[in-house]
Amino acid sequence: MKIGVLALQGDFDAHRKRLEELGAEVVLVKKPEQLDEIEGLVIPGGESGTFLKLLGEAGFEKLKQFVGVKPTFGTCAGAILLANEVENPKQTGLGALDIRIRRNAYGRQIDSSIRQGKLIDGKSDESPIEMVFIRAPRIERVGPDVEVIATEGSDPVAVRQGRVMAATFHPELSDDTRVHQAFLKLIGNPRLVDETLGLFSGKSSLSAELKRERRRKDKW
Ligand code: GLN
Repeated sequence: MKIGVLALQGDFDAHRKRLEELGAEVVLVKKPEQLDEIEGLVIPGGESGTFLKLLGEAGFEKLKQFVGVKPTFGTCAGAILLANEVENPKQTGLGALDIRIRRNAYGRQIDSSIRQGKLIDGKSDESPIEMVFIRAPRIERVGPDVEVIATEGSDPVAVRQGRVMAATFHPELSDDTRVHQAFLKLIGNPRLVDETLGLFSGKSSLSAELKRERRRKDKW
């Protein structure tokens, strides 16, 4: 199963690493035709306006078709691109998620922060999770078909509608792998697209072996 990471700009490499650690085969997507080779796509953080410029009209249309049929996960700028209503300033979205999202709603770069939020599983089970926010957008409206899968304070910070997921934080920058695991689970189990249960059940963080390997690599 090949998973693409949109690699036009932004922090695509952290997503590549995380997905590979979880056993996925990753394709860095730099050309629209590469979308034909993959089963799912991650749209990383970066600058959503720049993504739009780099995609161009044809790239945008091809991406829109893709997100209409294949699982897609957007983080931060990626979440902004997936929305159907973008504020501050108004901006075109792919319309894959029925949400209104406000760019840079928590302040500028200097206000970026690491906070603790909650993952919510279908049965309203909650568990704490570290969240890295970088010039994050805020989800201001959630449509009736959108499931909130994570919150921070009273804000929804990760949502899902069918096969499309988005987070306003950066799970690729924390050790906790549950959000990416949930996305892989969504790709591997088309059945889950219509269900709400069990998206986050499973192992909660990097295996001990991977952690040891990381430490070993960090030594030099
Ligand atoms: N502020 C950026 C935007 O509006 C998103 C920031 C991010 O992706 N870390 O696109």
